[in-house]
Amino acid sequence: MTAKSIIRIDSAPPRHWVGDGFHVHSMFSYNQDAHLYSPFLMLDYGAPYLCEPRDVANGATPRGVGSHPHRGFETVTIAYSGEVAHRDSSGGGGIIGVGDVQWMTAGSGLVHDEFHSPAFSQAGGEMHMVQLWVNLPAKDKMTKPGYQAITQASIPQATLDMASTRVGSVRVIAGEYAGYTGAASTFTPMNVWDVRIAAGQTVSLPQPEGWTTLVLVQSGSVTVNGGKSAGAAQLVMLSRSGTDVEITASADTQLLLLAGEPINEPVVGYGPFVMNTEQEIRQAFVDFNAGKFGHINE
Ligand code: MN
Repeated sequence: MTAKSIIRIDSAPPRHWVGDGFHVHSMFSYNQDAHLYSPFLMLDYGAPYLCEPRDVANGATPRGVGSHPHRGFETVTIAYSGEVAHRDSSGGGGIIGVGDVQWMTAGSGLVHDEFHSPAFSQAGGEMHMVQLWVNLPAKDKMTKPGYQAITQASIPQATLDMASTRVGSVRVIAGEYAGYTGAASTFTPMNVWDVRIAAGQTVSLPQPEGWTTLVLVQSGSVTVNGGKSAGAAQLVMLSRSGTDVEITASADTQLLLLAGEPINEPVVGYGPFVMNTEQEIRQAFVDFNAGKFGHINE
């Protein structure tokens, strides 16, 4: 076994607004170096932020992102604190709260909206979330839209203890770790793990040879394979070559580990549509404007 090497460590850029409700750091997007991040297309990080009600509501109206389309990929929203309400034209929807995940397959196209939940928008509190976009291979881009509502309780958790000391834990949202199979089903092989490591401990999280491997540090501080340290709101990109990923925490740490088999196909995207060719993007606009993505039932 050889160690994956660190390719780069990127700090979060300034936050920007998604709609009028989600204030996020865009850690990467398909507009730049898409091939390096494949099968992942975009990572918006809503770092922990204490929201007053006025930050998440306009009076009695929750803030968020109004009705908009997607085609050709999946959106994965992970809530660590706060609550997000969602509705889509395939009939999916609900509220995801602490520890929950919504895994939405836009496929051939749907329309959805995303808002702070009514309760959270009135009370405020800490908001901490991630939205990850996962590409679909060309053969599945026009698959039927779908929605996996994944509750905290349904996500397998491996706890890592030595003697009576808590070393860490791995919540397996997707993929497989130490015999635990992830809650989400995916179109291509990947690991999406919510990882906690106690201060001073080292955890081995090997990833397959050839896979894109990314570590988003959410709190704490780590070194990966003995390299430079990375802290909160930094993204570590590891090499596809090698398999070993040894993470040492110098403080209590929470991180998101994303690894996946690259999809070696062209990425042509425009806003909420990500396809393989310009022609397919033009067709997405034609189909959306013709109402083929459906409507949200009020
Ligand atoms: Mn969306």
